[in-house]
Amino acid sequence: MKTHEYLKRRFKEYYKENIEKIPLVSLFNQREFGFIPWDQQIRMIRHMGFAKKELFITHLINTGPRHVYSSATQYETPENQDMKKKGYKGCDFLIDIDVDHFYTPCKEDHDRWYCKNCGKHGNGMLEKCPDCKELKLKKVTWICKDCLDVAKQEIIKLIYDFLIPDFNVEIENIKVAFSGHRGYHLKIEDNNLRALSSDQRREIVNYITGEGISYEILGLRKKGDNIFGFSRDTIGWPQKIYREIEALLTKSNLEIETILSDKKVFNLSQHFIENLLNDKKIFRSIIQNSNKNNWTSVSSNLDMWYKFLEPIVAKIGIEADVPVSIDTHRLIRYPGSLHGKTGFKVQELLLDEIEFFNPLDEQNEKLDPIVFVSKLETIQKLEIIEQEVPATNIKGETFGPYKLGDKIDVPHHIAIFLLCKEVAKTI
Ligand SMILES: [Zn+2]
Ligand SMILES: [Zn+2]
Repeated sequence: MKTHEYLKRRFKEYYKENIEKIPLVSLFNQREFGFIPWDQQIRMIRHMGFAKKELFITHLINTGPRHVYSSATQYETPENQDMKKKGYKGCDFLIDIDVDHFYTPCKEDHDRWYCKNCGKHGNGMLEKCPDCKELKLKKVTWICKDCLDVAKQEIIKLIYDFLIPDFNVEIENIKVAFSGHRGYHLKIEDNNLRALSSDQRREIVNYITGEGISYEILGLRKKGDNIFGFSRDTIGWPQKIYREIEALLTKSNLEIETILSDKKVFNLSQHFIENLLNDKKIFRSIIQNSNKNNWTSVSSNLDMWYKFLEPIVAKIGIEADVPVSIDTHRLIRYPGSLHGKTGFKVQELLLDEIEFFNPLDEQNEKLDPIVFVSKLETIQKLEIIEQEVPATNIKGETFGPYKLGDKIDVPHHIAIFLLCKEVAKTI
């Protein structure tokens, strides 16, 4: 509790010192607000509305919440406790990309799991205990530049491979923010999209993730003994798949063989791989020329083509957290607020700021999510309360790894991070 009181005070100070820097979201007084306090007895305080930004900021300064959210939804009366009486007006289209929900290789280094049932533990990303199959694992998940880069690349792909070319979304209607922890979210503020139902939203998400893609509809078909591929001049998915196949075919034979032989990704026969390599030039000229779209020389086995295309589609598709996009009453983190699991700021980004944004070592002070860097370089004493704490690399310096009982001296911003992650306590 002492630690939570300490963090609450720091969060209040942050809001007091940054009144001007907290942005105003669009249609502010039509949004529902939600707060998770430091007091763990209370899950979430929601159904709140603010007529003016000043009232909202005053609330933040007075309460210093652990997490701060506002709805993607617009309501007539957002403060009404009864969802049916709020007067639903529409909902921004949300896409959440969070490395909590998909695999990245660096998790083998920095994420740990413990089975509460049988005591087994290990590294990486697991849903259930490999020994006793218990589903409720205790997890210690961490962040590093690698996984945050993966999430960032997904956002870039989403915007430039899908939203702009396929949906014609206006750039000024796209709002991107670093979540303050393990990902990014993207909000589209477009009145046509705001009117979509949950089912319609699901269709869009299926499109951008590649879920349930039909190769037949895209044009792949077997006619007699021949396989005909997608027609070249179509837009959308066929175009993206062609681009990916062409990129593969420009690699050396050795590289292609290594990629296609990886059984964790592709499940192809040696025969198919050999044919593709032998036929590489011809196949490339075939897919570049829409008139000759006969893929039979590589393989006349339609199943093998599906196996070839599936990992390609998976690579192109976006790792979006589907439930977020289809929920029309979703609350999302308020820009400029602090994330209670890290103490980092939720940082809004312009499209041209995304590419070079580096949340763990950002040079542009305005965009820097690590707000507790002290100019006085204060050092704080903490005690580690978690079995093992992975190394943390923030602002070019590495802290840890640590183990249970370690007494450590760390700079203020690292102290806040470790306390928020609940792996250390103040002493
Ligand atoms: Zn177990
Ligand atoms: Zn990582």
